[in-house]
Formats: sequence, structure tokens, C-alpha cells
Amino acid sequence: MRAARELGIKTVAVYSEADQDALHVRYADEAFPIGPSPATLSYLNIPNIINAAVQTGAEAVHPGYGFLSENHHFAAVCKTWGLVFIGPPPEAIENMGIKAQARLVMNEAGIPVVPGTEEALTGIDEALDTAEAIGYPILVKASYGGGGRGIRVVETREELAEAVERASREAKSAFGQGDVYLEKYLMNPRHIEIQILADHLGNVVSLGERESSLQRRRQKVVEEAPSVAVNADLRERMSQAAIRAARAVGYTNAGTVEFLLDETGHFYFMEMNTRVQVEHPVTEMVTGVDIVKEQIRIAAGLPLTVAQSEIAMNGWSIECRVNAEDPDQGFRPSPGKVTLWREPGGPGVRVDSGVGEGYQVQPFYDSLLAKLVTWGRTRDEAIARMKRALEEFEVEGVKTTIAMHRQLFDDAEFNAGQIHTNFLAARMKGA
Ligand code: ADP
Ligand code: ADP
Ligand code: MG
Repeated sequence: MRAARELGIKTVAVYSEADQDALHVRYADEAFPIGPSPATLSYLNIPNIINAAVQTGAEAVHPGYGFLSENHHFAAVCKTWGLVFIGPPPEAIENMGIKAQARLVMNEAGIPVVPGTEEALTGIDEALDTAEAIGYPILVKASYGGGGRGIRVVETREELAEAVERASREAKSAFGQGDVYLEKYLMNPRHIEIQILADHLGNVVSLGERESSLQRRRQKVVEEAPSVAVNADLRERMSQAAIRAARAVGYTNAGTVEFLLDETGHFYFMEMNTRVQVEHPVTEMVTGVDIVKEQIRIAAGLPLTVAQSEIAMNGWSIECRVNAEDPDQGFRPSPGKVTLWREPGGPGVRVDSGVGEGYQVQPFYDSLLAKLVTWGRTRDEAIARMKRALEEFEVEGVKTTIAMHRQLFDDAEFNAGQIHTNFLAARMKGA
């Protein structure tokens, strides 16, 4: 909505019953109710959202992240109603959204994918043979999975049959589709992702990498741009692979190609997120490009405002996800009323949040309260600012992950950039 405002575009917020006093509702020029608090009845309710758009005369729909943002059916329905979906074409979402299928398409485009099954598994014999060929440990992954869910590690041949069966059953109930496939489990890799932008005139650019290796239960907790593990040559090669991936599916708008980088410096395609990501601000901080503004312009058929030759990474940026969670209770969500909310400020500090004093944290939705982002000329300066900002950040009424973040930035190995996707779990109790 901030991006729209800068572009002189009026906005309509949609909201559930629980969110009637939420910040996004107050910020928008207009607001329209779309149903009761449970997400299935409101934020995932396609007819109600389309109705809100039609009733208010909206021209376009921005799906944000989560919810319907990677739902190709929703993107198609928007089109049917004459609404512009601010995202890629439905076909691109579909081709990339089904993970097993995306692997196939990437393979054909000559992009290295993590070794594993080419398509969804058809039977347990195939699973046993493939696992033997790629070697244990392996991962069983749900083709329709997301948000760190639907992934299971299998250490030995004996565990495989049951794991595949259970993963498939769980995927069926969580994502509505039971398809699973196998992937080699890489030991302590880094999660490196490339942000791309593609317009309708055939321009595709890379805004460089983000490192999202700090994870808890395979969900990102801290992200940074650039990455200590990526030099100019690797950035160029990963960017070229990401651009090729986007072109292979006729991609337009903003998107992220996620890779795993192993200890020997090889990278492998993992998946593509066909939407703006939670961690996009770190890229905005180092490139100066407003990604959401580009998204809106692209959707309107306008060209990108930047050429690849103009894109450079300036300084360093880090993001901490501040969640309403209780670290002493295994990071269980901690809903309730926010009685004190004091955000940090000063040079190089950005806070994106939907929360303020008096806000009621709902049990219905994701527990993300705010994204705390810092920028510095060097990684050390970005870290020093993050420490200062975390000290300034005061929240009362709900438990948050701020204290956990404070610990992290005192960690010598983190500060030396020696991180990987299992780093946090090894470090933090209950992480
Ligand atoms: P990212 O790489 O952007 O973090 P995630 O897969 O974690 O991608 O999802 C983005 C955000 O949306 C996260 O905060 C996640 O918890 C939330 N989210 C994902 N799926 C849903 C859903 N079905 N309903 C509500 N929120 C969701
Ligand atoms: P999601 O859709 O839930 O984001 P991803 O396929 O992106 O699923 O994987 C989420 C995380 O799980 C990765 O960031 C990484 O930490 C871990 N992971 C996924 N695949 C592998 C693999 N083959 N080897 C090791 N870790 C993996
Ligand atoms: Mg992912």
C-alpha cells in the first residue's frame, strides 16, 4: 500500500472480522470485509475477495505472501473478472508451484537440481531404487508443500517405506494432494536465493542474492543480502540460472529462485517462489529498488525501471523476523494484547509491521509481527545496528522472538559468516 501510494494509486484493504482494527485496514483508502476470522472463510475465500474487488471498482489485486499468493486458480479467476493479478501468469505459478514438476522443467532447461526423483513417486519399489542410487540420508518432500512443511528426513532403507507412506498421507491432509518425491539430503548447505524481476516486454533482471540459511524447522528466521559465500563470479552464474528458470516458464513479475549451495561451492535449484517474499526488504536496502513498486508497474504493462547494468549491491542488509512466539515453550505462538510497542529507529533501520500498541495478536494467522531490517556499509555495521535496534525494540503483552535474536548477534560464528541451514537448530534450545 505504501508503494501504491507513492505511485498515486488508491488502495482497498480486505479484512476478516478479527482484523477490523488492524493497521492495514486503517492505512488503506478504503476497506472491505471478507468474512469471519478463520482464514478459510476470509483470506482464502476467493468469491468474497473477488466480490470486494468488484464492489469497490478495484482494477488490480495484490496477493501479498502466504494465503492465495501462489494459488494459480485464484490468479486465473482474477483474470476472468477483468482484474489484474499482480503476479505471474497462472500457468507459470502452476508450473513452478508443483515442486516435482518444477524440477522436471528446470532439468530440461539445463539448470542443476538437487539429485532425486524426476517426477512424483509412483510406488515404493521406485522409491527404494532411487534412494539406493542417490544414497542416504534422503528427503521425502511433498510436491505441493510449502512454509517448511511436508519435508521429512530418512536416514536408512528400513525407514523409507513407512516415511513415504506417512509423508503422503500428511501431504494429502495438509495440502490436498498426496504426491511426494525424493531428494538427496545435502549436509549443512547454505540457502541462497536469487531475486528476479521480469516485465512483459521480455526484460528479466537479477537483483542478486539473499542468504536465508538461518532457519528453524525449515522456516526462515534471519536473512541477509548479499551473502558472504557468494562472490561476483558465483553471483553471475546463479543469476544466469535464475533468469533461465524464469524464462523457461514464461515468468513475469517478481519472483525468487531458491538454491542450495553445498560446501564444495556447487549450487542446486530447490524451488521457485512465485510471489514477493517476506525477506524482500534486504534486497531493496542494498539495491535501492522498490520491489513492490516494480511489481505494480510490471502488472500495468510498464517496463522495468532498471537495467541489469544499473543494478549493484551497495553495503549490507539483515532482516530479523519478529514473531509472537514463546521461546520457553518450544516457540509456540503467543497470541494476546500488545500492551507496549516501541519500535527502534535511527540511521539504517527499517521496521515493516502490521502491529501497534493495543493490537490484539490473533491465534488465527501466522505469528509474524514485524520485520526488523538494518543496513550498513559493511556486514559488521549492519550487525552492530541490528544489535542496537534489537535493544531498542520494546514489546510487552505477548512473548516475542526478540530475545532469541539478541543472542544470535553475539555469536562468534554467525558474526564470521560461518552459517548453514542447521546452524540455528544446533545453537538454540527448542529451535
Ligand atoms: P518466505 O520464503 O517468503 O518466507 P513462506 O513459505 O515462509 O515464504 O511463506 C510466506 C509467509 O506466509 C510466511 O509468513 C508463512 O508463514 C505465511 N504463509 C504461508 N502459507 C500460508 C497460508 N496458507 N496461510 C497463511 N499464511 C501462510
Ligand atoms: P518450502 O516450500 O517449505 O520453502 P523448500 O524446498 O524451499 O521448501 O525447503 C525448505 C528448506 O528445507 C530449505 O531452505 C532447506 O533448509 C531445507 N532443504 C530442502 N531441501 C533440502 C535438501 N535436499 N537438502 C538439505 N536441506 C534441504
Ligand atoms: Mg522454500
